[in-house]
Amino acid sequence: MAALTPDTLASLTTLRVGGAARELFSPLTRAELVTTALEVWATGEDWFALGGGSNVVVADSGFDGSVIRILTRGIERLPSLVDGRVTLRVQAGEPWDDLVAFTVSEGLAGLEALSGIPGSCGAAPVQNIGAYGTELSASLTAIDFLDYESGEVHVLLANELGLGYRTSVIKRGRGGIVLSLNVELTDATGQSAPVAYEQLAGALSVPLGSRLPLAEVRASVMALRRSKGMVLDVSDADSVSVGSFFTNPIVSEKFARFLPWDAPRFAVEPGAGPGLGSDSVKLSAAWLIERAGIRRGFALPGSRAAVSGKHSLALTNRGGATASEIYQLARFIQERVRNEFGVTLSPEPMYLGVDLG
Ligand SMILES: Cc1cc2nc3c(=O)[nH]c(=O)nc-3n(C[C@H](O)[C@H](O)[C@H](O)COP(=O)(O)OP(=O)(O)OC[C@H]3O[C@@H](n4cnc5c(N)ncnc54)[C@H](O)[C@@H]3O)c2cc1C
Repeated sequence: MAALTPDTLASLTTLRVGGAARELFSPLTRAELVTTALEVWATGEDWFALGGGSNVVVADSGFDGSVIRILTRGIERLPSLVDGRVTLRVQAGEPWDDLVAFTVSEGLAGLEALSGIPGSCGAAPVQNIGAYGTELSASLTAIDFLDYESGEVHVLLANELGLGYRTSVIKRGRGGIVLSLNVELTDATGQSAPVAYEQLAGALSVPLGSRLPLAEVRASVMALRRSKGMVLDVSDADSVSVGSFFTNPIVSEKFARFLPWDAPRFAVEPGAGPGLGSDSVKLSAAWLIERAGIRRGFALPGSRAAVSGKHSLALTNRGGATASEIYQLARFIQERVRNEFGVTLSPEPMYLGVDLG
């Protein structure tokens, strides 16, 4: 497949920063995607799989390698093996929220709390997307994975993916491309999965654990997300971001004892991720940032990158910002939080074209 050289990758990402790739491939079918990837890999040069660009920060100098866009579409219902359960196979380039909207319209429960997350289905397992008390791992059963090492397509079961809080073996470096995913959902006559997040339960005025019509849960999640600038919206400057820029830090209980008494602490569920023991505690990155004195809307002098006016975890491009301005702001925040609390915030997005460690 012929490659194009775009002016920049900025227009293919939600943060809208970054320079050009050496080559850009846009295969449209699954067969073309496999052929393109194998051809690119055979060159031995650097490559990158790009979905919706909603979790990547591209360096101003661009990327000296090949970018393969993931654009394959399709949602297919597989024959059901278990009563009341439905498996969907979804091609990697399907927009995630189109899948959620489809499941809600079909009366299938399991993904509704993940409404409004931007990006593609193929990227969803990469960081095990999550929101409002639900993670993809609760519904994902398997992926078709074009493996970089073998050049073959493997079916990987969800329990082989090392899924944890915003992580997977792919995020941790296993090379390859997610071609499609299988999600198993509940056919519960249009009722949602139990509401598992206090803020969402509050917005719906129901106790935690309630089941409600799927469309009601979806609408409530969308409204909450909108109020935080967490839905892509051309009229909302606070949504020009990669979503949360930092993950919630996980520390030992012993360490957490030395933090201020009112620092929010959340239990880490067993199996939440590799290397996490029962004495681990999840902290709120947003709380740490605010308590370190960084307010919503904060920007360094003269910079066009700013903390979102609606959410202290999102770094936004206020118009014409460079990747360097985003990095500077991210580093400033990391340093302030480290100095104040001794906690190092880890960036959630992938950096492309620059290694910031
Ligand atoms: C406004 C906003 C709100 C957000 N809210 C949330 C949220 O609530 N929860 C959450 O978890 N995330 C959230 N995000 C982050 C982001 O939307 C998700 O991480 C999403 O899954 C990224 O999808 P993408 O297709 O845009 O991936 P990209 O940004 O294109 O890529 C991200 C990573 O996945 C890899 N990748 C992409 N496609 C494939 C593939 N097919 N095979 C292998 N690797 C692949 C890329 O190489 C890269 O490493 C938010 C982002 C924004 C902008």
